[in-house]
Amino acid sequence: MIVGTVKEIKNHEYRVGLTPEAVQELVAHGHQVLVEAGAGLGIGAGDAAYVAAGAELVATPAEVFARAEMVVKVKEPQAVERAMLREGQILYTYLHLAPDPEQTADLVKSGAVCIAYETVTDAHGGLPLLKPMSQVAGRMAIQAGATALEKAHGGRGVLLGGVPGVLPAKVVVIGGGVVGFNAAQMAVGLGADVTILDRSNETLERLSAQFGASAKTLYSSRANLAAAVAEADLVIGAVLIPGAAAPKLVTRAMLSTMQPGAVLVDVAIDQGGCFETSHATTHAEPTYVVDGIVHYAVANMPGAVARTSTYALGNATLPHAVAIANLGWKEALSRDKHLKNGLNIWNGNVTYAAVAEALGYDA
Ligand code: NAD
Repeated sequence: MIVGTVKEIKNHEYRVGLTPEAVQELVAHGHQVLVEAGAGLGIGAGDAAYVAAGAELVATPAEVFARAEMVVKVKEPQAVERAMLREGQILYTYLHLAPDPEQTADLVKSGAVCIAYETVTDAHGGLPLLKPMSQVAGRMAIQAGATALEKAHGGRGVLLGGVPGVLPAKVVVIGGGVVGFNAAQMAVGLGADVTILDRSNETLERLSAQFGASAKTLYSSRANLAAAVAEADLVIGAVLIPGAAAPKLVTRAMLSTMQPGAVLVDVAIDQGGCFETSHATTHAEPTYVVDGIVHYAVANMPGAVARTSTYALGNATLPHAVAIANLGWKEALSRDKHLKNGLNIWNGNVTYAAVAEALGYDA
């Protein structure tokens, strides 16, 4: 199969659909790989690395779209990219179609086969192509929180791990899923005093077994949450109610119970945020202060560590890309029901029920 990747053109997107290592893997399976010149520069992968891996460099995205049978990307195609898609061509990338009628209409019109990373499932009911980005965001949340706690950034001047003779900071993680687990791991590693709240008893049991005495677990009742937040130096918001906006668990009134200069990191901001006072920020200006409490609420945290994020995403996406290239999309999807769940649009139809329902198409 001819597989291609292009330079991402969405604002401030530095990740890339295929790393040189992914190219090498596809080439080893007998496929031809087209890479737009400069596609990997955002992750420090120069054109020479792609050529050494066996790619053919091409000058323009138009040439990639014209020749490739499958285009592998990171972000949803932008309007100019959608205009280059053709009937029967495979598009393998994040799409997030439900809130995006314009993109959906263009993809339907294109006749392309659109496989969305975010709806591919695994045998445990998880979303394995979303998971790596939650891992990145969870780990980064502690770095971001630690920085925001510094005086120069408006924080209360507390070091997460403390030092001998001085107590460590109190870190409260709300939501013990992928983001929360990874955040807690980093905070424990730095020596902080960590408490994880969740409302799933099964999750609390698992976390308790995983962390042992190095982190506390607490049922996420209103009273427990309010008490934990009041004492915290750093609160990480990491809840998710699938398919719904995040619940506002920390209210504005609760900010006055906190210590001035304490920090809230709202990772759930991409679902509307789980703190009442959150609004989305950017990497250029990640924090703001409300009632003396520092807020960090960057909606695309993994973008800041594009290199790590690209490799993490590639580890999850590449096996499916290889399967699609080896078998053709129809056979690959018929052999793997989890990959099949990724099919969102095909032959001018929306094939993913939730997207069809949200946007009024017949699934
Ligand atoms: P997940 O499903 O793995 O975990 C969510 C957890 O929240 C679950 O354990 C659930 O039981 C718990 N929860 C639900 N309601 C709760 C409540 N009231 N109190 C305490 N816990 C509660 O989800 P995840 O992958 O960890 O993602 C968490 C959030 O982070 C999502 O909104 C996701 O979109 C977001 N996210 C943001 C970024 C970013 O860049 N900002 C990146 C990746 C993920």
